[in-house]
Amino acid sequence: ILSVKDLSKTYKSGSRSLTVLDQVNFDIQAGETISIVGPSGSGKTTLLGLCAGLDSASTGSVQLNGQALEKLSEDQRAAVRNQDVGFIFQNFQLLPTLTALENVMVPLELKKRKDARTKALELLEKVGLGDRATHYPTQLSGGEQQRVSIARAFANEPKILFADEPTGNLDTETGEMIEKLIFDLNKEKGTTLVLVTHDTELAGKTQRIIHIKGGKIQEDAHA
Ligand code: ATP
Repeated sequence: ILSVKDLSKTYKSGSRSLTVLDQVNFDIQAGETISIVGPSGSGKTTLLGLCAGLDSASTGSVQLNGQALEKLSEDQRAAVRNQDVGFIFQNFQLLPTLTALENVMVPLELKKRKDARTKALELLEKVGLGDRATHYPTQLSGGEQQRVSIARAFANEPKILFADEPTGNLDTETGEMIEKLIFDLNKEKGTTLVLVTHDTELAGKTQRIIHIKGGKIQEDAHA
């Protein structure tokens, strides 16, 4: 479902350039669960963003669900994201002018689901936020916003879910609840999971762990 070939990313600012990813290669099969781990600044979030089509690579290619992302226009990439991809990203935020419920309804409405409101409320209840449906993002705590974005990702019924530190902002109990929801999605719907995490316990629950350091893959280990 995901194939990454010779992927590199260099950030340029003025005369300075920083190579954050250097010739990265891996394939992920549909239904796999995988963690990307490594030290702070090693390029994990950048890699996840490139795989999810949120950003474009300097060189190399990303094939996501049969589409070579580098060959698509920004609009076409957005269509791929809306169709098949779910995100739980710290910087992929909620729309500030919409309530929690309306944010979760966005992907459902894009798919023209008539039951968008009912379904969105159901998902908010699932993440323990049934009583916050009419709150705007600024009226929610960081962890609550994270849970709304999780409900929104689930609403998309993605084939592949990319999650950057999905339990990072949450207390232990809520973190465990979210973790269970994410893994249930894999078990019940076969959703491919790609997680970036510092939490070794969480990483240990995935079938495969990619270790990245200095923009290169150090190890690609199957459990
Ligand atoms: P962490 O575990 O701390 O979240 P990470 O492994 O996810 O780190 P990235 O966020 O991918 O690391 O960042 C890798 C490097 O690229 C860092 O040194 C960061 O400062 C730099 N970087 C990230 N985004 C940009 C950007 N838009 N412009 C310039 N440099 C960037």
